[in-house]
Amino acid sequence: MSTRTDLLEDLIARFPEVPGEAVLKEDLLRTGISFHRSALTEGDDGEVKPKSYFIFSFDHKTLPELGEAATRRPPEEIALTGGALGLRRTIVSVRLNPDSPYSVSRDGSGTLGLWLEDQLLADVAFPPMPEYYRHRLENGKSVMEIAPTIQWGYLIYLTVLRLCQYFGAKEECQFCDINHNWRQHKQQGRPYTGVKPVEEVLEALAIIDRYDTAGVSHAYTLTGGSVTSKVDGLAEAEFYGRYSRAIEEAFPGRWIGKVVAQALPKEEAKIFHDHGIRIYHPNYEVWDERLFKIISPGKERYVGREEWHRRILDAREIFGARYVIPNFVAGVEMAQPYGFTSIDEAIASTAEGLDFFMSRGVTPRFTTWCPEPTTPLGKANPEGAPLEYHVRLLGVYRETMEKYGHRPPPGYGPPGAGNAVFSVSSFMDTLAPSEENADELLAV
Ligand code: SF4
Repeated sequence: MSTRTDLLEDLIARFPEVPGEAVLKEDLLRTGISFHRSALTEGDDGEVKPKSYFIFSFDHKTLPELGEAATRRPPEEIALTGGALGLRRTIVSVRLNPDSPYSVSRDGSGTLGLWLEDQLLADVAFPPMPEYYRHRLENGKSVMEIAPTIQWGYLIYLTVLRLCQYFGAKEECQFCDINHNWRQHKQQGRPYTGVKPVEEVLEALAIIDRYDTAGVSHAYTLTGGSVTSKVDGLAEAEFYGRYSRAIEEAFPGRWIGKVVAQALPKEEAKIFHDHGIRIYHPNYEVWDERLFKIISPGKERYVGREEWHRRILDAREIFGARYVIPNFVAGVEMAQPYGFTSIDEAIASTAEGLDFFMSRGVTPRFTTWCPEPTTPLGKANPEGAPLEYHVRLLGVYRETMEKYGHRPPPGYGPPGAGNAVFSVSSFMDTLAPSEENADELLAV
């Protein structure tokens, strides 16, 4: 392909079963976006909701390399509509890349646009600053730091442990910059709480509950690094579970409770459920056996792939199959020097994993890999995975969902192009629209 525009148009034409919105969104997620200074925010006090760095950096450069974009942060997400592709509203998480062929800028009249190779591709809207971000905790911390919201306000993202105890090259997942991201924020002197006190989380949630009068927030995710020993004297299930227990006591049924954690033995995973968690994400990251061992060496070392998968299936007995939703990182199976070199092989492997879980009632979901520069895989593969891989994966995902008659996973907001709010992958944009109430889970 001679230009990025050609590549985009070719894939949209070749894979008509995947919405054009999803093709563009995948390209933006894998490549990142450059923001002209006219499109940066005014920080905590402006009219636009800024990028919160809710867990990983999700940037293609480090903060010192981002210049003004590090201080006048870009928005958390953008909403694309119209333009040359006639887009239905598409919500995309912002991943900064000053070298990206995609750029967002504001023209003289104040109108925002997404540009690709001198072509205006789409109209852009920024998320407005939510009222709850304008109020601080008693100790002065911001709600954005303690309880940021993403997915256009749908999900409260509670990274209560900003570090992972899988540590160093022999344990950290090879695509993950959680530990580096914590270090870079500390080095920049930014507030970035390592272990969030339960009281601070409750205080921030009380502010959200009070000011989110339209009821936009529907779910919270408790997450952070893996706990292989203890934090605050607690093993992993008790550590994360104490937050959901406190949240459910203070705000019973107000939000859907989710946790991203290791695949724990059944009796430990049950602690999450006992404490009010309804959706469990024991992420398997990558399907292929050889690649899992290389890419997630900590998971291999502490649990092992087979056992990890067994525990995912065991968790069905606690949560119900539909509410066990393991994530994988789409694209890392093509990262060199270890990954597949052919798209066909990579898709075949990922499809095998999807079939394994979906045939057993579990619906995995995925995030699009962002090749962060301080990770081993990001360093070696700054371009990420081929766009064709991402587009074909969306097709396979939808096909496998349909093959087994699965409904869209709960806790992700509405499905379908023009409706989806899930911002770090376009799998929800690709599924067929559904009338099903996205909040059905609250009745469980
Ligand atoms: S388990 Fe892996 S992906 Fe998760 S925080 Fe730790 S290193 Fe990162």
